[in-house]
Amino acid sequence: MLFRDFAGICERVEELSGRLEMIDELAKVLPTLDDTELPVFVRFIMGRVFPDWSPLKLGIGPNLLYEAVAYVVGKKREAVVAKVSAEGDVGKAVELLLAGKTQTSFFTEEMTIRDVYAACEAIALSEGKKSQREKLLAVRKLFANVKPAEGRYLARLILGELRIGIGEGNVRDAIAKAFAVDPAEIDHAYQAMNDLGEVARLARQGSAALAAVHIEIFRPVKMMLAQQGTIGDMVADHGAVAAEYKYDGTRIQFHRKGNEVHVYSRKLEEVTKAIPDVVQRLTAATGRDVILDGEAVAMKDGRPMPFQFVLRRFRRKYDVEEHAGKIELVPHIFDILVLDGETLIDLPLRERRKRLAGALSAHVAPQLVSDDPAAVGEFYQAALDAGHEGIMVKDLDSRYQPGVRGKHWIKVKPEVDTLDLAVIGGEWGEGRRAHLFGSFLLACQDRGGLLPVGKVATGFTDEMLATIHDAMKDLVIAEKGKEVDFEPRVVFEVGYSEIQSSPNYGSGFALRFPRFIRLRDDKGVDEVETLGSLRSRYSKQ
Ligand code: AMP
Repeated sequence: MLFRDFAGICERVEELSGRLEMIDELAKVLPTLDDTELPVFVRFIMGRVFPDWSPLKLGIGPNLLYEAVAYVVGKKREAVVAKVSAEGDVGKAVELLLAGKTQTSFFTEEMTIRDVYAACEAIALSEGKKSQREKLLAVRKLFANVKPAEGRYLARLILGELRIGIGEGNVRDAIAKAFAVDPAEIDHAYQAMNDLGEVARLARQGSAALAAVHIEIFRPVKMMLAQQGTIGDMVADHGAVAAEYKYDGTRIQFHRKGNEVHVYSRKLEEVTKAIPDVVQRLTAATGRDVILDGEAVAMKDGRPMPFQFVLRRFRRKYDVEEHAGKIELVPHIFDILVLDGETLIDLPLRERRKRLAGALSAHVAPQLVSDDPAAVGEFYQAALDAGHEGIMVKDLDSRYQPGVRGKHWIKVKPEVDTLDLAVIGGEWGEGRRAHLFGSFLLACQDRGGLLPVGKVATGFTDEMLATIHDAMKDLVIAEKGKEVDFEPRVVFEVGYSEIQSSPNYGSGFALRFPRFIRLRDDKGVDEVETLGSLRSRYSKQ
């Protein structure tokens, strides 16, 4: 498939508003693709280049992209930035810039989606000192070879967001329709495989191929997530439930096969090298081939440390050994997904728990099984007294559902007035903070989009502002005076005193006395507060 045709499909889908029409449009296309194009197409249409589990990352921020486009259209980088600011959309801006290009390249060749994928793979694999330069040259080459309309989607694809309004669920349904299989069979295979592209290829082979998919060690699986809830409701719904401490650390997924070990974060990034102490503890606790799910907590002199110490360890790329001595990370394992070649996610939790206890000699998170709300309530109090965040209450009959935030796991913790929000804009600081961003525009999510809910400018230390600047300097998509727009990638947890209804922000709400609590670099933008839950908090006040 030519990239031009891919862009054409994106354009048509972007103009459609009905879910079913979008699904039909895609379902027509999928069977026409061969086995190498199909996975690429499916990932591209979701705005992704590589599977979620893959260690490959493009690593191209808006800055590098602007520089490449500027070169191709024979303008200054500032002109590109200005165009993006004026259009409010990188894709549209690139399209217009390419259309206005006076010089045409001599050697343009029509690119296929496979060509674009191969170029991206080469970019992701380029490492070392020269890699920035190499990346720039490769991105220039890509933009030199596309027509304006293709440039729109190429730019968005490279930045990881296609914005054509098609969600994962619609793509799943299109695959099901195209190859006449049940959407549930696709979900199941996707949860184990973590790559809808490959799953589409198997869907063409039929139900048996989808059913045969199993989890592979060293291919990280999305983590199962929890909803808020109450002990009373869980016991009423399920009778006996499993209760565990809710540790205030960061999620880890531990994979071991033979003597090889890898650990992945909640965002499925490899973190093995950053946490040698966790690796060592778990390697000592089991010699079996496993995938374990748990939480790593920072400890100092035998006491749990606040969450930001854990993330500091995760962020630190150098001096790991030296730092590991000061703050120790201790794992608490609460689930098992694979044991000695057997995939366990379809077993009920009570069965997985038995396997876990048999496979691990230490670091298994204690669990209370009870159908008595008072006993679970006491356990909750004990958890708080011991300095934990609260408890997790789990349905003993539930299977492990990767990536699902369902009703089978619920979190019980004291009401706290904090929100996780996406950072979509900001302003440069003043005085001694003039070289750093000083205030930030925050947004909640609503049906795949982000809506502003106000700004935060207090609660930051100088050190934190420097960390944030480092994390966000390459995410600036547009600048106007002191104001900047960010590519939404970063999540802040913020405190507030009240949610107010407000015509000033797109969400219709604003925060009174917002203050920065912490950087949630373990969370993605797709996990921020929804408009719906903001509304319900507002009405409960
Ligand atoms: P939240 O981040 O508030 O949505 O809470 C869910 C998170 O709590 C999970 O992603 C885990 O990182 C963490 N957690 C801590 N203890 C447990 C536990 N016993 N079971 C499951 N998740 C836990």
